[in-house]
Amino acid sequence: MRVRSAVLDAIAAHASRESPRECCGLLVGTEHEVIDAVPTANVAAEPLRRYQVSPSDHFAQMKRCRELASPEATAVGVIGVYHSHPRSVPTPSPTDLEEAFEDFLYLIAGPVDGSAQLDIRAYQLRAGKFENVELIVAGRT
Ligand SMILES: [Zn+2]
Repeated sequence: MRVRSAVLDAIAAHASRESPRECCGLLVGTEHEVIDAVPTANVAAEPLRRYQVSPSDHFAQMKRCRELASPEATAVGVIGVYHSHPRSVPTPSPTDLEEAFEDFLYLIAGPVDGSAQLDIRAYQLRAGKFENVELIVAGRT
């Protein structure tokens, strides 16, 4: 999966801004590339250790993608979601697994508290398990 370096920078900045709460947002792109990371509200009842993308933000992004689409362009859509682990490594939690959908891309950023270098990793759910997805960063000089 290709990802633009600006997308990773935006996710890292959002994670820092929201810390100690988890941040979350939507990933917009194609089957092969993450083009944009759109910050959304975390509406989880316990944002210190959970995340839930605001449904109205999700709907607004799906609508925006439909408007972006043109007949000759590769299909652009909401392809996944990102969130942060403010105090731990970017490994999916049991809750992350429980709430995941097949075919969606999951980017996790962490830790944000300075205990280690922030890392961003990607996962996809296949047959009920998270598999690592290799990120190929484009546009980093
Ligand atoms: Zn998580």
